[in-house]
Amino acid sequence: MITGSFSRIGASLGISKHHRQTDRLQERVKSIAGAAQPVSNELAAAIANDQLFLEYQPKLDWRLGRITGAEALVRWNHPTHGIIPPRRFIPPATDSDLVRDLTDWVISQAAAQAASWHAEGIEIDIAVNISAGDLDDSDFPDRMQQHCRTASINPSYLTLELSEVGVMREAQEVSDILTRLRLKGFNLSVDDFGTGSSSHTQLQKFSEAKIDLSFVTQMMNDPGSGRVVELLIDTAQKLGLRSVAEGVENDEVLNCLLDLGCDKIQGFYISRPIAADLMSAFVHEFASEIEPPEPEVEQVTLDYLNFAARSEATALCLQAAE
Ligand code: C2E
Ligand code: MG
Ligand code: MG
Repeated sequence: MITGSFSRIGASLGISKHHRQTDRLQERVKSIAGAAQPVSNELAAAIANDQLFLEYQPKLDWRLGRITGAEALVRWNHPTHGIIPPRRFIPPATDSDLVRDLTDWVISQAAAQAASWHAEGIEIDIAVNISAGDLDDSDFPDRMQQHCRTASINPSYLTLELSEVGVMREAQEVSDILTRLRLKGFNLSVDDFGTGSSSHTQLQKFSEAKIDLSFVTQMMNDPGSGRVVELLIDTAQKLGLRSVAEGVENDEVLNCLLDLGCDKIQGFYISRPIAADLMSAFVHEFASEIEPPEPEVEQVTLDYLNFAARSEATALCLQAAE
């Protein structure tokens, strides 16, 4: 059973290596020293002093039967508080210029990591979370492109995830920036899909919709959440967006999502976020545990994935949707 290999890999999580500091960030630390926001001060120092690191959570394309991407998720290895999750330090930073420095740091690391994996023969793309504040800078697309050039990676291997609440901003400038990012070859994903009320016009700039985990984790025991997930997958399909479910924690949810036609799967059931240097082993072990699917036979594809209790899950899913 392939889940055994997932937990073995998950158990050996480590902290990825720290990264080089930049002069610009050092200057920034000095320039905001003494300002009113202690969290911001500390975060600026953390970026400059290599206290941040990225973990990567694999994304499964179940039709291909392999890991085709990973989401970069930032963590802070604080000298006294230990590992701090992003929800504790990103929201206070979103209204400051720090968000720009954070996104630059994350993109530069992720682009370099993608190039390094490609050199090893692991051709996966990387998703990076950006903040609505990033889109206030008219030079954002050029900066992102420059990071890709520095790492010698094509922007088509990077997906920028923007929360649906950020997508809803009407400003023409924001819309133009999204268009420029698409023209440069970046993929755009609407994150936490279902938590906002973006218009169809706004969503057309995107290539992917990530269904919010609050609906996915509840879809088997809350009929309302089940219906929302079904509706969101349907909406994504009708708008020509790839659908991704995040927060998939068990095989019942997985199989229900496959039946609903969800394109990609991300969640603890596939893998927790892992250190960069574990990805290669994970991708290979995942590929070696399952046989290639029979082309054009969807039922066989589902069976070959070898996830148990599919029919039971389907029944539960239909019940939930009633
Ligand atoms: P997100 O982009 O929606 O990322 C998904 C979150 O769900 C991650 O939490 C991930 O670890 C967690 N997750 C994944 N699978 C499961 C699952 O099966 N069950 C459960 N319960 N959780 C799961 P994390 O890493 O704590 O990140 C939280 C949020 O912080 C992210 O939500 C994103 O909005 C933000 N974030 C993370 N890294 C960055 C970054 O580099 N830049 C920016 N701007 N935001 C980031
Ligand atoms: Mg995300
Ligand atoms: Mg999300």
